[in-house]
Amino acid sequence: MKRLFAAFFAILLIPACLFGCAPSYFVKSDAVFAGIVLDVKLYGGNPEKAYEEMVSLATEINGAISLGEPDSAINAFNESDSGKKIPVIRRVYDLVRLAKTAYAETDGAFNPCLPDVSKAWGVDNDGIATGNPPAVFPTEEELNALRAVANPDLVKTDADNGNYYISKNADGVKLDLGGIAKGYLADEFKAIAERYNVVSGCISLSGNVILIGRYKEGDSERDWGVGITDPREKHAYVCGFYTQGGVSVVTSGDYERYYFSDGIRFCHVVDPFTFTPTGVERTDSGFAQKTDYVISATVRGASSSKCDALSTAVMVLGAEKGAELLERQGYDGIIFTADKKMKVVGKFDFATSQTGYTEYERI
Ligand code: ADP
Ligand code: MG
Repeated sequence: MKRLFAAFFAILLIPACLFGCAPSYFVKSDAVFAGIVLDVKLYGGNPEKAYEEMVSLATEINGAISLGEPDSAINAFNESDSGKKIPVIRRVYDLVRLAKTAYAETDGAFNPCLPDVSKAWGVDNDGIATGNPPAVFPTEEELNALRAVANPDLVKTDADNGNYYISKNADGVKLDLGGIAKGYLADEFKAIAERYNVVSGCISLSGNVILIGRYKEGDSERDWGVGITDPREKHAYVCGFYTQGGVSVVTSGDYERYYFSDGIRFCHVVDPFTFTPTGVERTDSGFAQKTDYVISATVRGASSSKCDALSTAVMVLGAEKGAELLERQGYDGIIFTADKKMKVVGKFDFATSQTGYTEYERI
């Protein structure tokens, strides 16, 4: 598993922690596979059945797309020659199409064809798991050799009479759906919950949150409270806000999956333009930490897969360009940078109980 579903607890829900939970909610928190935790609070309908179906779907998708599973369809694609059609389940076909769309909509900032770049830097799952830098850092020449194939336009999808295939137009093209898979699953979980008549709920897949209906408290209802983990202070929220249901909230950040080398933080999101981990730049003498890079990007909107792709893209683009992208796409966002700036897109009803963000200068 692991690789695609990077364990990442960026968002924690305030209702669970600050207000307690109404006893009538079906509450469950379990690892659905190593490192990925599915937290649900579901009210109404048949939440047990809904939960069961969510776990089985997560297992199925993970088996199909994980880079850590040698037999996964995505690994078969990654190892395949140009032109060879790899049969996939419809959901993988859908997911690949979503990833290609995200690439187009973010002007290339979201790029699902970087697994070899991540590996070269040791920020893929196996590398990060060691907690250390790779034995040698990749040279610019080595990375440049990967540029031609880091192109999702070279990935083809075909549907034919209920059969689904993916193939590549050039040898060496590879996929890594880790930046969007949890969002895709969260959207599917929402559909499952609604099919089982859940009327109020919060589903969190290691940081990808889906909110359904309104939060129930005794006989009354109110908006959901969502807390964003402080990117520099473990077990604290940098801010909290209230929000209606029917939306997803997704955070991407540099503080769960990273290693340090000479005091420089290398995180698991790769800049597809510079081919370095976001927040790192090459200098004449080695590497330097960028001063103003994004350390936490939260995106709120209707589709969780889109929030997931956009939050990763904002990490790449930086606060200003990232905010412009969110505005163009009609998604809200809260962005924090390493030099203590905060950029907000859209209207947020901030909770006065969480004040960490006041240390950041609003830009
Ligand atoms: P997480 O999965 O930790 O919640 P993200 O949604 O930001 O975080 O996804 C990061 C993952 O996406 C990486 O672990 C890697 O698999 C993949 N990835 C890295 N850089 C990019 C990028 N620029 N575009 C798309 N996917 C990326
Ligand atoms: Mg993402």
